[in-house]
Amino acid sequence: MRKKIVAGNWKMNKTLEEAHALVAELTGMVADEVKTPTEVVVCVPFPYLLPIKNQLGAGARVKVGAQNCSEHEWGAYTGETSATMLASAGIPYVILGHSERRQYFGENSSLLVKKIDRALGQKLTPIFCCGEPLEVREKGTHEGLVKQQVEEALFHLSAEVIQKVVIAYEPVWAIGTGKTASSQQAQDMHAVIRQHLAGKFGPSVAQDISILYGGSVKADNAKELFAQPDVDGGLVGGASLKSREFVEIVKGVA
Ligand code: PEP
Repeated sequence: MRKKIVAGNWKMNKTLEEAHALVAELTGMVADEVKTPTEVVVCVPFPYLLPIKNQLGAGARVKVGAQNCSEHEWGAYTGETSATMLASAGIPYVILGHSERRQYFGENSSLLVKKIDRALGQKLTPIFCCGEPLEVREKGTHEGLVKQQVEEALFHLSAEVIQKVVIAYEPVWAIGTGKTASSQQAQDMHAVIRQHLAGKFGPSVAQDISILYGGSVKADNAKELFAQPDVDGGLVGGASLKSREFVEIVKGVA
């Protein structure tokens, strides 16, 4: 179902003590200041999932998510965490296909299909990331590449199941660089993605899918980005590590 979502991707940051302190600040600010029904998610490192979920409590306004899961379900895969494990721990979201996973851990579309299927099979909501590197943007072939990433990872799903996926468009050149896509660049690509989904699954299904923007979202650019008709919120890295900045970003959703 299409909804407004702002998800923080903490990556490999914070001690457990710092994580608890950040979540305590965040939940207070969200409760006091966020007047919209925007879904707020924090995607934290694996060891913090349960402590943070427990800190948030049942029926919490802020939800917790993982940053990855295995393509396998069980077994001799040392160091891996499966979607089944996440689901059994009550974790509702998982980021999949982040550009750092693609770049540093060699994740490709055929692997991501398996991870997406595992996550959906356990009723987790995947936040599927796509986006082009700088050289592709400079060549002008970015739309084709992003359409291909979406197609390869998601077009095997049924029209019913695709609606359970959240897509995050994250141009690689904007991640952690301080260079944000302009609101027009974001809107243009989000419209391309939605049109591509419409071509495969039909326009009403495409209208029902949340597409988030990620890449150096900050308090001072969130409002304009989130005001675009096809931008349904954001996936936020660095700025999600500071409670005040992150809450201001959440408040950028109208
Ligand atoms: C991200 O890693 O998903 C991200 C968008 O990072 P940043 O906001 O720091 O660019």
